Amino acid sequence: MANKKDYYEVLGLERNCTLSEIKSEYRKLARKYHPDVNGGNPESEEKFKEISEAYAVLSNEGKRRQYDQFGFNKNLFDGFDFGSVFSEFGFGDIFDNIFGSGFGSVFSGGRRNSRRKRGSDISTGVKISFKESAYGVKKTIEYNANDICETCKGKGSTAEDGIVTCRECGGSGSVRIARQTFIGNIITTATCSICGGSGKIVKDPCKNCRGRGYRAVKKKVELDIPGGIHDGDSLRISGKGNSPGRDSINGDLLVTVRVTPHPTLKRSGDDVVSNIGISFAQAALGCKIEIETLDGKEEIVIKPGTQPNEKIILKSSGMVQLNGYRRGNHIINIDVRIPKRLSREEIILLKKYAEGRKEVIG
Ligand SMILES: [Zn+2]
Ligand SMILES: [Zn+2]
Repeated sequence: MANKKDYYEVLGLERNCTLSEIKSEYRKLARKYHPDVNGGNPESEEKFKEISEAYAVLSNEGKRRQYDQFGFNKNLFDGFDFGSVFSEFGFGDIFDNIFGSGFGSVFSGGRRNSRRKRGSDISTGVKISFKESAYGVKKTIEYNANDICETCKGKGSTAEDGIVTCRECGGSGSVRIARQTFIGNIITTATCSICGGSGKIVKDPCKNCRGRGYRAVKKKVELDIPGGIHDGDSLRISGKGNSPGRDSINGDLLVTVRVTPHPTLKRSGDDVVSNIGISFAQAALGCKIEIETLDGKEEIVIKPGTQPNEKIILKSSGMVQLNGYRRGNHIINIDVRIPKRLSREEIILLKKYAEGRKEVIG
């Protein structure tokens, strides 16, 4: 799979291109690299996968936004429904040839038609430190989700004839209801209340899941949180949400990232800002001072004659930008602090100093 690849470049498009441009460019390239046209040439097959991956991301509004914001991330693909991408272009037949083994579990999930029942999404959160948000971090999170029951394989019953067609709706899952109103009979369809829309009745329910076909389990997922992520940003991981049972598509997992504030470092766009206080003498005479940076402690030099509110900029020591290639700066604001209390000796020295400079005091 492509790693940190520029999907726009793969399709030969500008970053601000429209959806219809994405579609037409993909169609053109897919025809060119279609494995049937190229007699199974592995290079064009690779190319076909690459453009399909780019198309899958850029043609989906949510994924495109996530990609534009965060760059490549393997979470973009977990459980991705590739079948529907191909059927849209009439490539459904080649799915197994192309993705059967090569892509393995990365694209598992959606190769049948998209009319399958879809499980609900799960929202959860993860806390990361300020430094982790600067560089990006891998985090394994645990959460509760409904997963297909292993005992009955999601069918709801382990018995051969444990499931029968619903007699109320004849297996269609919906019933027609006729209502008499003043404008005549109105026929509406409603979900069958007997089978709940599944068209089937579980006669001999599985003991493990009580006939539902799914069970609550603890799940783990490794998140690849990109550097530069903001507090409150959320990552969508396809296919890691709830399962509604057999022959279905899992919902998604939505993870909101909470960044714990740092005691001295603050974020400002891609820059990191911190404040240091130095004394009047340190400002006038210059000094070396140790400060906290994203990369650990660092000694910086304060030049003689430094003024209050002067800034020192440490280039490329800020947050990793979300596209992952550059870093912001670290800006240090210098505060010159005047002592509020002086000893008798200090007063004598300062007075002497002021007299020497003919400064009017007291
Ligand atoms: Zn079961
Ligand atoms: Zn029914």
